Amino acid sequence: MSLRTRFAPSPTGLLHVGNAWSALQCQAWAEQQHAELILRIEDIDHTRCRAEFAAAMIEDLHWLGLRWQGEAIYQSRRRQAYRQALHQLRAMDVIYPCFCTRKQIRGEIARMASAPHAEDAVMAYPGTCRSLTPGDQQQRMQQQPFAWRLDTAKAMRTAGERLTWRESSGQMHRVRVDDDIVIGRKDIGVSYHLAVVVDDAAQSITHIIRGRDLAASTAIHRLLQQMLGLPEPVYIHHPLLLDAKGKRLAKRNHATTLSSLRRMGVQASRLREFLACDPPPCWPFDQAGEGVPEETILRMLGKR
Ligand code: GLU
Repeated sequence: MSLRTRFAPSPTGLLHVGNAWSALQCQAWAEQQHAELILRIEDIDHTRCRAEFAAAMIEDLHWLGLRWQGEAIYQSRRRQAYRQALHQLRAMDVIYPCFCTRKQIRGEIARMASAPHAEDAVMAYPGTCRSLTPGDQQQRMQQQPFAWRLDTAKAMRTAGERLTWRESSGQMHRVRVDDDIVIGRKDIGVSYHLAVVVDDAAQSITHIIRGRDLAASTAIHRLLQQMLGLPEPVYIHHPLLLDAKGKRLAKRNHATTLSSLRRMGVQASRLREFLACDPPPCWPFDQAGEGVPEETILRMLGKR
């Protein structure tokens, strides 16, 4: 079987050095294993993703020296496949429509938290819509916007208690999911979790290489794979590139972008050299992003 991995950024902003580190991890693994690397643009969330960011990402990745197989694949063009997966789960009766607003869910959780034994209450969806009758569901579906939630307890029973996921280092993890997570969002009709498992299978991904911050989602992905009859990939959750204060670099914290480095005249080869450590080096600036003085960056990364 040929080995295949993917780099799967979401175009909600420009790529930063943390994304570059992750992309280079995928590439290094693919080279070592003589595996294929594909690029998947995870742009299902039209409320946050922008075509300009996707185009800029591709340009930045070319600049960085990432080489992928074929054309980039866009999730926004694969909605039909996600709808089919939702139909499949519906036919199995393991998802239910949820009409709650965030405010109602917060209110319900607060009520539970002020009840006796509040310490036992989990801060998860309280299950309000789980037990609506089919008649109620039908009627409300005609009138109100709704999300699809996984009936997790039922899904876990169907999938079997012994379900695990495997990290390439050999560790096996028991799949535990306690929340009725949303798998079809009210606004976009799908969710990251559903799209990612459908695509990984359709695109024959054998190894998933991504940051440790996503390890918490892997149990959900295994559960969905099992329900949908999809193959099990191997997971490699790599450590994250942190800033000088030990924080994960993130778009929302204005981490230094690749395009700003490029504008300063930093050479991609120099950035690759700097990032070529495992475990990763720390990005020696805090999250000042574009505010980091150019001379400081150029002193560190040179112009070679
Ligand atoms: N699109 C996700 C992100 O940018 C990555 C998804 C994944 O690798 O599973 O964080």
